[in-house]
Amino acid sequence: MSTMDDLLAFQRETEALGQVMGRLGWDQETVMPRGAAAQRGDEMAALEGVLHARRTDPRLGDWLEQAVPGSEAEDAQLRLIRRSYDRSRKVPGRLAAEIARVTSVSQGLWAEARKAEDLAGFLPVLGQVIELRCEEAQALSGGGDAYDALLDGYEPEMTGDEIGALFDRMRPRIVALREALRGAPPAPELTGTFPKPEQLALAEEIARAFGYDLTRGRIDEAVHPFSSGSHNDVRITTRVNEGEPLGCLYSTIHEVGHAGYEQNIAQAHGLTALGQGVSMGVHESQSRIYENQLGRSPAFCQWLYGRMVDRFGTLSVEGPEAFARAVNRVASGYIRTEADEVHYNLHIMLRFDLERALMRGDLALTDLEAAWNDRFAADFGIVVDRPSNGMLQDVHWPVGLFGYFPTYSLGNVYAGCLNAALRADLPTLDDDLAQGDPSAALAWLKGRVQTHGGLRPPRETIEHATGAEVSEVPLLDYLEGKFGALYGL
Ligand code: ZN
Repeated sequence: MSTMDDLLAFQRETEALGQVMGRLGWDQETVMPRGAAAQRGDEMAALEGVLHARRTDPRLGDWLEQAVPGSEAEDAQLRLIRRSYDRSRKVPGRLAAEIARVTSVSQGLWAEARKAEDLAGFLPVLGQVIELRCEEAQALSGGGDAYDALLDGYEPEMTGDEIGALFDRMRPRIVALREALRGAPPAPELTGTFPKPEQLALAEEIARAFGYDLTRGRIDEAVHPFSSGSHNDVRITTRVNEGEPLGCLYSTIHEVGHAGYEQNIAQAHGLTALGQGVSMGVHESQSRIYENQLGRSPAFCQWLYGRMVDRFGTLSVEGPEAFARAVNRVASGYIRTEADEVHYNLHIMLRFDLERALMRGDLALTDLEAAWNDRFAADFGIVVDRPSNGMLQDVHWPVGLFGYFPTYSLGNVYAGCLNAALRADLPTLDDDLAQGDPSAALAWLKGRVQTHGGLRPPRETIEHATGAEVSEVPLLDYLEGKFGALYGL
């Protein structure tokens, strides 16, 4: 065995254990008994200890020094393993395990606090999470920018300054579009009762149409839709509201975008450092383009309208054009996950500014709620009425995901770039979508992005796929074109 073989064999076991960790998380959010929460925290902390020991194993240092890559893929393997080794070694094992334990427990406490609207009761827990993540960020950055250190964990080679500049460029055009839409007649709303079994059956039908391989995946229900796993076990969840079917259908398409990315990575990369989506931003670009640029396109809405009528009978909106307007209805609302494409990035900008200020010590935890509510009123023109509609709505901060939110907007920006390139290559795509067939677009995404896994760094992955530099312009052009047409501006 060569050094490279030793290294890859060791890495394979680490990746497998990482997948086991992910499955514990999936279980926690789907079928775990409530009384198991504290025990699960201990279980995850124990496994995190094992993973951390493997990721910092001194043999890795030797192997990384001696291994000679024989291909572009092996070169990328070394780059990714080295990155993980360097990052992991900076964080003491005790701290990594403590973060795993505390964030696992705090997830359950957040869910209860949100239900009880008890923000004050949850703040001490959140304070503990923030303290631990700040300690980790200090260890990672060695006195550098704490926020950048955390952001880099989700979106390698991206900085807070770059995100800030990107948002400064995006904001004026988004706000101008939102103001113009406010002046237009509102879009119709889909109302009625939509039985759960029919919603789930249609969601599965659409998941299959979007290429989800159910022999290597499954769909369950959870409070929050998510996807989990990679390679040959990639699971998604959805949720059903009988008064509002679009949430179930579109969150399913969204999660199928994440899951499809994982399922479509080349089999040869499975259980290697290349065997997962390359960053959260690129991951989100896949879920967004499936959900929005394809799934919410007026063309696909034509087909979906027919399927909705088949399943649910006459709808409150009549005809595919009105249905497309209802699907793409723009309205100011509290909840990020329910936001339309025009408002979505404003939700992220708010979170980005606040979490960056928190990490930098410029904002005290006790002032966070007021800061959130003031900013929300200024950006959205509505007053937050309760914590579950404000800063308790998202699971991210309670589980320590600081630096994660901007990857959602990066995903939108990347999706905009991919959509422009894909549409240029597939001029008749809308004809297929109107028949409920996104396969040409899916094949394009698989070949250009998904199959490569972690072969190239995030930005390079997108630029390789599109042949153009990453820019927010295609997304903003797309938003103005689509919503301008839907609202007759
Ligand atoms: Zn997503």
